[in-house]
Amino acid sequence: MKIHEYQGRDLLRNYSIAVPSGQVITSVEDAAGAFKNATAGMAKPLAVVKAQVHAGGRGKAGFVKLVSSAEEATAAARFMFTNRMKSPQTPPEGLEVKKLLVASAVDIADRKSGGREEFYLAITTDRKTRRNVLIASREGGVEIEQVAHDRPDAIVKEFIHPLTGLQGHQARRIAFRLGLVGKQVAQAADIMMKLSRLYVDKDCTLAEINPLVITPPTKDAPDGQVLAIDAKFNFDDNGLFRQKSIAEMHDASEDNPAETRANALGLNYIALDGNIGCLVNGAGLAMSTMDIIKLNGGEPANFLDVGGSASEEAVTEAFSIILSDQRVKGILVNIFGGIMNCETIAKGVVNAARNFKNPDGSVGFKVPLVVRLEGTNVAAARAFLDSARNQLPTMQPATDLNDAAKRVCTAVGA
Ligand code: GDP
Ligand code: MG
Repeated sequence: MKIHEYQGRDLLRNYSIAVPSGQVITSVEDAAGAFKNATAGMAKPLAVVKAQVHAGGRGKAGFVKLVSSAEEATAAARFMFTNRMKSPQTPPEGLEVKKLLVASAVDIADRKSGGREEFYLAITTDRKTRRNVLIASREGGVEIEQVAHDRPDAIVKEFIHPLTGLQGHQARRIAFRLGLVGKQVAQAADIMMKLSRLYVDKDCTLAEINPLVITPPTKDAPDGQVLAIDAKFNFDDNGLFRQKSIAEMHDASEDNPAETRANALGLNYIALDGNIGCLVNGAGLAMSTMDIIKLNGGEPANFLDVGGSASEEAVTEAFSIILSDQRVKGILVNIFGGIMNCETIAKGVVNAARNFKNPDGSVGFKVPLVVRLEGTNVAAARAFLDSARNQLPTMQPATDLNDAAKRVCTAVGA
């Protein structure tokens, strides 16, 4: 489960990690007031308006804006509420923005070497070592993906022992490797220790502060202050039953609508990026179907397990969910009928085709459909499909899984 940045900031505050204050707004009209609150008492008023969506890359997409007047705040809010946020982390059509965070902005110290004092700090779980790992970089900010790709040596790590937790010396070592000096070291190490406690306490799978910044030096704080100005958290869904306060932060309006529909019907559906829709029974078979599509050069558009006992209605709905994804250019039905009666699937396929309305108003499937059925009552199922040929003009029966994958990959031009 993901949460919004403003919720992540609250979590950081609960663990006494310094975060600038802010306010969430849901309409353009509230921007001016929120700006005034965020900048109250500032000699030089400066706030930051930030889209609250479950995706990163907002800065580069123009959805994080520094503003120095109520008018600028209002203009930024209007832009964000009326445009969809598109970044490499969103679907191609982007995401609608329903909430904004208007926060007090901070000055970020300049580096002698050029650039500004923006660091990357995160904890996640490393599958290879089966440990949590603290990851940090001196090159934090909006280019971190590029840095990780081009210069992996600019990323430093400390693995966390599951029994002892993150040790102070490990946190300080990271701080030194980031090039921090003076009081910055203790401040940053303290943040790392608190973040690692939060990570374990709340069953996180990712806790990321990017950027962690240093403010310019002042008389009282000659080394500046270390602050978190972004917060990204993912949580283990399997831990939510004991993480009530986290589960309550769930924002259903950010969920993929197709996944929500599928959940309601007891279908296990996960949207992916490819163009071959998959309708499969059983999680293992669904995984191997995706593998074999990839082996044949194609890309699955989804993972969909209709379960061992899907009804005809569930199969009909499954097709409608798959085809609600505009990217789908072909569908592979792969059923092994153990508990499942193949005839139920065959009827579901024909029913779905009969009821499916295309955007142009015509009825039936236009995309190529490859069907591989095996198992219980398969002969009757094949005969039924055959008799319904004119309702399924794009259907090709397949003899086995490899044949099916080849056919669908060829059909979509993969
Ligand atoms: P993301 O792009 O979605 O990760 O959004 P961030 O919250 O990380 O903001 C992107 C960038 O905006 C940061 O890396 C900073 O360079 C800049 N930024 C965000 N908040 C502030 C702020 O309070 N002051 C200043 N000076 N820059 C900020
Ligand atoms: Mg960020």
